[in-house]
Amino acid sequence: MSNLLPFLPTLKMASLIVRQGARLVRRNVLLTSVRASSASHAVVDPLKGKVPTDQKSMPDNLGHSVGAERFELLSQLAGNEDPFEMNVKKRAKGTFDEPTLVPSINTKRLVGCICEEDAISINWMYLHKGEPKRCECGYWFKLAELQPVNLS
Ligand SMILES: [Zn+2]
Repeated sequence: MSNLLPFLPTLKMASLIVRQGARLVRRNVLLTSVRASSASHAVVDPLKGKVPTDQKSMPDNLGHSVGAERFELLSQLAGNEDPFEMNVKKRAKGTFDEPTLVPSINTKRLVGCICEEDAISINWMYLHKGEPKRCECGYWFKLAELQPVNLS
């Protein structure tokens, strides 16, 4: 070990370079696999609304939108008016045996109950998958699994 002491800063630098190189390779491998998997399941035209045409002089909202907003606009074009199930829904019977079903793709969802017709506040609560929950007004809610919509 004493023979290596003069080279210790060099060894540390070499170790640092190797670690940085390994990190770069790992990151690129992960990104490549994600890109490859998402490209094979493309369900919408990635250029829809983003390519200029002779018929339009100004781009519409679809051309400007990205991410969740773009998904919502494309879903509406495909005929699904409420892709995130965010519209206000009427309560069902609301008993324990027949609760109001709230669709969700996750294991929990924030739900607001307008307990009375003339209420000025919304009673918010979390619904968890498999656990029916009762609002303060007495109505029961239950999380229902939402099936993903295929746009292709
Ligand atoms: Zn309520």
